[in-house]
Amino acid sequence: MGNIGQADDTRVGSAVGAEPGSHGEPGADAGRPQILVGLSTASVYPQNAEAAFRYAAEIGYDGVELMVWAEPASQSIATVQSYARKYSMPVIAVHAPCLLISQRVWGSDPVAKLERSVRTAEALGASTVVVHPPFRWQRRYAEGFANQVGELEEHGQVIVAVENMFPMRADTLFGRGEGSAKRLERRGGPGLAVTAFSQSYDPTDIGFRHYTLDLSHTATAGTDPLALAGRMGHGLAHLHLADGRGAAHDEHLVPGDGTQPCVELCAALVRSGFSGHAVAEINTQNARTAQDRAAMLHRTLAFARQHLNGMPAAAPTRTDRM
Ligand SMILES: [Zn+2]
Repeated sequence: MGNIGQADDTRVGSAVGAEPGSHGEPGADAGRPQILVGLSTASVYPQNAEAAFRYAAEIGYDGVELMVWAEPASQSIATVQSYARKYSMPVIAVHAPCLLISQRVWGSDPVAKLERSVRTAEALGASTVVVHPPFRWQRRYAEGFANQVGELEEHGQVIVAVENMFPMRADTLFGRGEGSAKRLERRGGPGLAVTAFSQSYDPTDIGFRHYTLDLSHTATAGTDPLALAGRMGHGLAHLHLADGRGAAHDEHLVPGDGTQPCVELCAALVRSGFSGHAVAEINTQNARTAQDRAAMLHRTLAFARQHLNGMPAAAPTRTDRM
């Protein structure tokens, strides 16, 4: 995690063949698409949160989902507000610090961390908090989780959208354990995988008012995302747009690069009148240059514009050919 928070002056934008606002006016009113498409700050890792705001503005996303994790800037309302102003990019969602690698971020009490995530979303004007089901070993948090989520929603405006996860080894969570994931692959599958989550990695087994559907986690879990969306029903409030090939580890590929029915899922959302946000949550750690990273973020946005906002397919640009 040594790169988090590093200084980052890499410029993007002219390289990706897109300029802010060049996506036109896909929506019915005021040029705003009905389904806003955001960029997760995790999508630019190992670059930092400010880099995500810059990519989002230069490539033409509608907003940003803030991943709260080890980078100090991601934990500071004032710093994030300064980025939102500087790049004219609203924060549309906050991802609670519930990754294994975030266990000490904002203290060690997961109950307080979820509460603080909601307060942060309120302060930033974000409509949604994304949270994972509790880990099995977080007994007290797990026991009170459904009640806490319900009360936070009841007493505020922010939607708390519980995300579908996958059975996994505790050492292969997002951003960690690539070596062990490769070992698992060589072994031919997640043979020793267990669920690290209390009760279930599928939040519809417990039942919440609002859900986040993640198209990389469905791949890893071997879950049919269309069926999962059906179980979530109108509670489906937030989409993590990504893809996966069903590997033993969580891949977060550019949508269209894996085997998930991303096109069909987007079409189903549009048909159902989905009014939540879609957020690109892709892994660009293997991008060799900022230009490569920008191209991946650009392809993801083009996919969303086409399949969620009814825009014509984007002509391939030089940097799209990766
Ligand atoms: Zn996700």
